[in-house]
Order: sequence, then C-alpha cells, then structure tokens
Amino acid sequence: MTNVLIPESMEELRRILETHPGARVYAGGTDLLVKMRSGLEAVPPCLVCLERIAELDAVSEHGEVVRIGACVTHTRLLADPVATEHLPVLVRAVEVLGSRLIRNMGTIGGNVCTASPAGDTLPPLYVLDAELELRGGTGSRIVALKDFIKGPGQTVLGENEILAAVRIRKPRMFNLFHYEKVGQRKGLCCSAVSLAAMLRVSSGGVVEDAALAWGSVGPTVVRSREIERMLIGKELTAERMREAAAEVGKIVSPISDVRADAAYRRAVAGNLLLRLAARDGSSP
Ligand SMILES: Cc1cc2nc3c(=O)[nH]c(=O)nc-3n(C[C@H](O)[C@H](O)[C@H](O)COP(=O)(O)OP(=O)(O)OC[C@H]3O[C@@H](n4cnc5c(N)ncnc54)[C@H](O)[C@@H]3O)c2cc1C
Repeated sequence: MTNVLIPESMEELRRILETHPGARVYAGGTDLLVKMRSGLEAVPPCLVCLERIAELDAVSEHGEVVRIGACVTHTRLLADPVATEHLPVLVRAVEVLGSRLIRNMGTIGGNVCTASPAGDTLPPLYVLDAELELRGGTGSRIVALKDFIKGPGQTVLGENEILAAVRIRKPRMFNLFHYEKVGQRKGLCCSAVSLAAMLRVSSGGVVEDAALAWGSVGPTVVRSREIERMLIGKELTAERMREAAAEVGKIVSPISDVRADAAYRRAVAGNLLLRLAARDGSSP
C-alpha cells in the first residue's frame, strides 16, 4: 500500500522528501496516476501531493514578468486576467488541452514535468522563452525551459527537486498569437502535430519579428530560428508561407506512432504555417 502525504508548506515538503527516499510528487495526477494504474510507471513507496502548498498555486505579476505557480490548474489559468491579457498564445493552447475534467485537475507544472513531445503548453512556453523556478533541499535555481527538457519524459530535475513556478516575460512586442493542434479527433486528443506562433506584423502586413515552435515532431519541441529568419522582413502571404513550409519539412524529425506516421507529421508541420497567412495580423 502506498502512503500519500499532503504537505501544506514548502518546508514540510522539503522534510518529507528528505525523509522518504523514492517518494514521487504529483499535482493533479492526470498523468502520473493514470500511468501508474496502467503499469507504465512503477508505484513508488510514497506519493506526495503538492496541491495544498499555497505558494505553488498562484499567478502573479512582477513588473514585466508573469509568474505561474506549478500547481495552477489549466482551468485556473484560463480564468486568470493576467494570463488572458498577457499570454494569449499559452491560453489558446490550454483551451484545447484535454477535456474540462482534465483541465480542472491537470496543472501547468505537471504538463511541463511530464515532458511529452505532445504536451500542449510546451510549444507556447518555448516561443515565450519561459524560465522555470526549481526548488530543492539546498536552495533554488532558474533554468530555461529549453534546457530543462532533455527528451521524452526526461528533465534535468534533480533528486528532491520540484518545479515551483514558470516565469514568462510579457511578449509586448508581438501582435499575432496563434496555437493550433492537429489530432485524430476534434476533442480530447493529444496532438499529432502542433504549432505555436507569435509574430509582430506591421500595419502593411510585413513580419517584423517571429517566434515559432512545433510539438510532436521530435523528441521535444522544435523551435527554429532559421524558419523565423525566413519570415522576418517578408509579407505574410500564403506564397511566403508555402516557401517556409517546405523548409519546415527538413528541420523536423518526427516518428511514426499510433497517432500519425512521420511523413504525415512532416507535411502537417509545414501546412500549419499556412494558417498564419490567413490571419490579418491584428491583435487577437
Ligand atoms: C484523458 C486525458 C487526456 C489528456 N489530454 C491532454 C492533452 O490534450 N494535452 C496535453 O498536453 N496533455 C493531456 N493529458 C495529460 C495531462 O492531463 C497533462 O499533462 C496535465 O497537465 C498533467 O498535469 P498534472 O498536474 O495532472 O500532472 P501529474 O500527473 O500530477 O504529474 C505529472 C508528472 O509531473 C511530475 N510533477 C507534477 N508536478 C510537479 C512539480 N511541481 N514539480 C516536479 N514534478 C512534478 C509528476 O511526478 C509526474 O511525473 C491528458 C491526460 C488524460 C488522462
């Protein structure tokens, strides 16, 4: 029988993790408990639920930075005025993550720490250059998201270390925010391919800045400066996007699995760019 402990402060959590070797933390449990039940994850001697630690459960503004506690659920994020005003690309991805029940239970921290190539919050967090606040027994450290995820399910989290918060600089220089995922169904499905994009488009329709990241087309999210540079200084037309889409097929490295085969993923990754050209460049 596995013990479940529910600390109410970071100090209590630290003591539990020090005195319970092999303990696993969880937040909503929508990934971990499902995997444990299906035998994909070993059942640990002790489970530690993070949901009562107030410090992990808030969205706050610090000047130009938005701090999202790791245990903020997807539903909370969707209702948060700071997130909806400043982080539309993330909010759009969370809107299509799972079902309402999953969004009620699942957290941003759980999505990041699961480190699935299909995790819906990851492409937006890559284009937003998110940083992560990690806390361990010996103190805290800040790690860029792109350095945190090493591969599918693999992160640089140390022993007894947890993700405390996601920090994001407000993307004030951008005026077009886009997230789209393609899956086997319209609702409740993990993405076969996804694209997060932030662009700054001038009133004349010229792309002045671009940040683009694809999910489910490699071991982790693929952000391409090369494709971004291809768009900067050009008009946001379907023809321009078709040229860029052809290059996307060369930089992604998808696998074939139950959701889609590699060739399909490669083609769709490029095609998702074409939807950007259909946008008018105004704020959402
Ligand atoms: C039916 C269903 C549909 C789903 N659909 C989607 C979907 O469309 N898109 C999508 O992206 N995901 C989907 N998911 C996956 C899941 O719901 C999300 O990844 C969710 O955000 C996970 O959050 P959680 O709090 O439940 O994570 P948990 O299950 O609590 O934890 C997940 C992992 O992260 C670790 N962890 C959690 N919090 C922390 C922390 N603060 N510090 C350190 N480690 C931590 C845990 O140890 C565990 O390894 C789906 C899941 C189900 C069951």
